[in-house]
Amino acid sequence: MNKPIAIETGAVVRLRKPHPCGGYEWTVVRLGADIGIECNTCQKRVLLPRREFEKRLKKILSSPTSTP
Ligand SMILES: [Zn+2]
Repeated sequence: MNKPIAIETGAVVRLRKPHPCGGYEWTVVRLGADIGIECNTCQKRVLLPRREFEKRLKKILSSPTSTP
């Protein structure tokens, strides 16, 4: 059973695969049907469908607020 992911803008996440620039850490910049993330290493922005994002997500490193 999968727990729904409580993600919010400003959260820093780690993905399973690195960006071509070598960065693993991303900041969530947009929420919706698609999740917008910005590479913390090269500042490139990428839009991922939520399902794809959840598949690639490895760990939420930090959140601006800690919602239960
Ligand atoms: Zn990058």
